[in-house]
Amino acid sequence: MASYFDEHAQDEDEERWEEEESLIRLARLILRGLGLESAAAQLPPPASQAAILALRKRSEGKGGSCPVCLAAFADDGEDITVLPCNHSYHTACISTWLHKTCSCPVCRFELPTDDVEYEETKKEKMRSCSRRRLVLAQSLGQRLGIQKVLSSSPVG
Ligand SMILES: [Zn+2]
Ligand SMILES: [Zn+2]
Repeated sequence: MASYFDEHAQDEDEERWEEEESLIRLARLILRGLGLESAAAQLPPPASQAAILALRKRSEGKGGSCPVCLAAFADDGEDITVLPCNHSYHTACISTWLHKTCSCPVCRFELPTDDVEYEETKKEKMRSCSRRRLVLAQSLGQRLGIQKVLSSSPVG
């Protein structure tokens, strides 16, 4: 008699645990779908060498300072690179930066990269945000449907 109740209680615990686990999985899926998971931790990939080489250069100072090293630009003779977004940096400073990530440290303007997968994702993002949401909703529905079938199936 006692063993029946013990077993039954155990089953319920297990069910609850499974439910929790599927909720966590669902939450992860939603975060990934919204792009939040990667947004927090990841920087864009490095800029392509061609894009770095194609950047505009100037040598005369026009005031201002380099946002990377925070030093003021000298009046002349400094090797300054201007990004397409019109932010200026010491060439050495910005090239080090762009070999790590393709985005402007000030405004996050992105230079082209050599990362095919990243470029595709970027294009896809621009192409249709709504399509991604639809896919997300469908896969959520599928998960919930599966979950419903699982919880209504007879135990044993
Ligand atoms: Zn600098
Ligand atoms: Zn910028």
